[in-house]
Order: sequence, then structure tokens, then C-alpha cells
Amino acid sequence: MLNKVLIANRGEIAVRIMRACKELGISTIAVFSDADKNALFVKYSDEKYNIGPGPASQSYLNKDKIIDVALKTKAEGIHPGYGFMAENSEFAEMCHKNGIEFIGPPVNSMKLMGSKIDSKKSMINAGIHVVPGITESIADHEKAKDIANEIGYPIMLKASAGGGGIGIQMVENDSKMEKTLDSIRQLAKNSFGDDSVFIEKFIKDPRHIEYQIIGDKKNHIIHCYERECSVQRRNQKLIEETPSCALSQELREEMGGQAVKVAKTAKYYNAGTCEFMFKDGKYYFLEMNTRLQVEHPITEVTTGIDLAREQLRIASGLDLEYDQKDIIPRGHAIECRINAEDPLNNFSPSPSKIIRYAEPSGPGVRVDSGVYQGFTIPPFYDSMLAKLIILAEDRKSCIARTKRALWEFQIGGVRNNIPFHEIVMNNEKWIKGEYDTSFISRYKILDQVIDYVKERKTQSSTIKTAAAMAAVQTVIVASKK
Ligand code: ADP
Ligand code: ADP
Ligand code: MG
Repeated sequence: MLNKVLIANRGEIAVRIMRACKELGISTIAVFSDADKNALFVKYSDEKYNIGPGPASQSYLNKDKIIDVALKTKAEGIHPGYGFMAENSEFAEMCHKNGIEFIGPPVNSMKLMGSKIDSKKSMINAGIHVVPGITESIADHEKAKDIANEIGYPIMLKASAGGGGIGIQMVENDSKMEKTLDSIRQLAKNSFGDDSVFIEKFIKDPRHIEYQIIGDKKNHIIHCYERECSVQRRNQKLIEETPSCALSQELREEMGGQAVKVAKTAKYYNAGTCEFMFKDGKYYFLEMNTRLQVEHPITEVTTGIDLAREQLRIASGLDLEYDQKDIIPRGHAIECRINAEDPLNNFSPSPSKIIRYAEPSGPGVRVDSGVYQGFTIPPFYDSMLAKLIILAEDRKSCIARTKRALWEFQIGGVRNNIPFHEIVMNNEKWIKGEYDTSFISRYKILDQVIDYVKERKTQSSTIKTAAAMAAVQTVIVASKK
């Protein structure tokens, strides 16, 4: 087992990884920016090193600086978390060259999955269902139109090297093709240094269903079933659940088999996620995320597997402790991403000081958080404060429990999206499980949230508000002494 691990990340995911390390007797090293010097993950770690100013480009993305700290502190492994360096194969290569284990997949799997064209090609060869389209880069306008007409409009233009929703654009007809193709190629060149663009069929309003994969260095790979992540705003996930309401047991097993095949084809190890789009009973493999996902805890609570612990074990060269038949999910889980954002200001990030913070607890409640009362949220990073993860015996009781936990959750001093989650948990379509990726826009959920927040502002004396106000008063009084 690795003895000492550097965590090249911040926020809740850094804390999550350190918790797994602590349970395994691994000592931890935090690297942090100026803006994070008082952050929870820094307090939690055994050793801590400042690596530069707030902006990520000068700290969390500074490869040389991070490797320097790892060498200086004799770290045996680096865990990249998600975001930042997590899917950067160059960084993984640097780790290995310096004799440090990168806690993630092999460099070659990362490279393959980093190219949408290459990965699509090799998955088609392996018999995986993908979105119909071409697997060559296209630059010629007339050729692009011919292909689009053959596939049938609307089509999607996608940058091969794209990620994070960047370099993806729908095209409705021939008249829009020339301009859009040129602009995507330019954008791809600027953002990723690679102007390869390809065409695939546009799938309207799909559901997003993904599979958790885990495998060891002996190519023993299993899946831990699916997560449905269709509640999204601007391609960003806000609520995830497992199991998905959309799958029959037969389809669930079939897609799981495909996900394992994807990972085997990529000679994958460690944790990863295979994303699929799902529409009218058909599924299409989209891409593999070569890292631990934000929403991994709902898989942990339903399968009983500690994914962060498995990542550390596998990186240490140990075998996976489970076979496919051991993975028997139980119950239903929902995750709500609690973000610092202001519903009354276009849902833009709301970084400020948290003056009141009390997490919910009780049966079936888990909170993975990166903050505490008194912490000032830095403006430089993602607006996610915490994740509320709820487990119950079935979906109906899971929704009831989620509502109860949202009611208990108290965050003062920072505008946040708890009202958004409350609105969704009471939405009739959501309750029936009838939703897809256009759910938020189709039902004007954000407008409902705005009305709800405005209305609540004018009501002065619900019990919860009164209790929260009293608590805030106490904090203010206490801090004055
Ligand atoms: P997906 O990429 O499929 O939406 P996730 O929701 O797990 O999957 O992650 C979204 C992406 O947003 C991550 O890959 C990462 O780039 C970024 N991200 C989200 N939260 C954070 C965070 N707290 N710190 C850094 N990056 C983040
Ligand atoms: P990224 O690497 O940016 O995450 P993806 O290929 O995973 O790129 O696509 C991101 C999102 O864009 C998907 O989750 C889906 O909502 C949408 N999308 C991608 N391809 C298509 C398509 N062919 N038709 C419709 N929507 C798509
Ligand atoms: Mg994706």
C-alpha cells in the first residue's frame, strides 16, 4: 500500500480522498492556493504546501510546482480528484517519469479517451453502440453538407479534443453549416490546439445515463451499475440518482456489459465512467470520463463499495476485491449538488462568507462538504459547496428523505441553490421519473425557483426562518465579543 499521497485538488473532493487515506493509514499532503489557506481540506491534511496565487492557472494547474512538492515531501502517489489535472495525460506521464504513482488510469487509456474520434473508432470496432456519424475529421464545406444530409439534419458538430461541453454545436440545415464548421474548428484550435471536428446525429432531449467502472491492473474490470444525471443546466449536472427510472433490468445488465467492454477495449484500470445518451429505448455510448466523478457517492451508498479506497488500493498494485456477481445494489440514492449561487441574480456564483452552516443528519443522510461555518468562499473556483447524498429503501421514500434533509440544511450568509432542489423534489414529472436533459428548461424550473425565493423573502416568520435568524443573531453577537 502507498504510504504517502499528495492530493492535487481542493474543496470537497480533496477532503473525500483524505478520508479514504486516513482509513487506510496513508498520510496526506495538501497543496493549496493563497485563496484556500483557511480551507477545510488544508486543515484536514497531515502536511500542507502553498503553491501560488488564487487563479487555478497559477496554482492547481501548475504541474511543475505540484511535482516539486511531491518530490520534496517524498509522496509515493498523486491523486488528482476531478477537474484540474484529472484527465491530463501529460501530467500523468510526468508523475510516472518522476517515480510517482498517478492514482488513476494508464496514460494510454487517458490519451485514447481524450480523442473523441479515436475512441469512437476503437469502440465501433469492439461492437459498442455509438451515435451514428463519421469518425474522420472534416474541414471541407461541401463534403460536410453531403455527410449531414446522409445522416439527416439536425446534426452535431463536435471537436475531437473537446471536453466540458466546449466545441459542441448543433446544426439545423445546410445554410448554417459553413459558418458553424469554421467557427467550431477555430474554437477547437484555440482551446485544445487541435482543429479536428467530426459529425454525428443530433439526439433530441436524451436522458444522460452513465456507468461506474472499476478495474485493477490485471485487467479485471467490473461495473457498479448506473447513475442517471439528466437534471442539468447548461450541460452541468445538478441532481443525480440511481437506479435510473428509464431502464428495464434487462437493459440495465446489457448496458453494464457494454460499459465493461469499453473499459476492456481501452485496457483501463482504476475508476472511470462510461457516459451514454438514452432515447426511446435506445442507448448510445458517448465517452468515458477517466476519473472519479462528482456523483460517485450515490454508487457508493447503494453498492457499499468505497470507490476512493478502491482507487488507492488499485494504484498500490492490489487486486480488486470484488467480482461482478458481488455487486448487488440496494435501495435508491439521490445526490443534490449544493452550489453557492444567487437565484435572484441570474443564478450566478455568490462567493462570500458563510456565517451559518449546519448540515442535516439522521438516517440515510451523507454530506460530502468542503466548507465550514466562518469560511469565506474564494471567487476563483467552482461554486459547489457540498453534496447532499440520500439513501432510502425506494425512490418514493428517498425523495421524502431528501426533502426532509433539505429542510434541515442551514446555510446563512451565502445565497445557494437549496430552493432549486426543493422545487425539483416537489415537481410532478420528477416525482414520476419522467424527465430528460431538457427538464429544467421545458418546465421553466428556474422561473419557479425565482418566484419561490421572492415569496419566501416576503414571509417573515416560518419556523425554519425564525430558527435560522436566531442562529445568525447568535453568531453575530458571539463574534462581536
Ligand atoms: P461531467 O464532466 O460528466 O459533467 P462531473 O459533473 O463529474 O462530470 O464533473 C464536471 C467537471 O466540472 C469536472 O470534470 C471538472 O472539470 C469540473 N468541476 C466540477 N466541480 C469541480 C471542483 N469542485 N473543482 C474543480 N473542477 C470541478
Ligand atoms: P464533453 O467531453 O464536452 O463532456 P460529450 O460528448 O460528453 O462531450 O457531450 C456533452 C453533452 O452534449 C452530452 O452530455 C449531451 O448532453 C450533449 N451531446 C453530445 N453529443 C450529442 C448528440 N449527438 N446529440 C445530442 N446531444 C449531444
Ligand atoms: Mg461528457
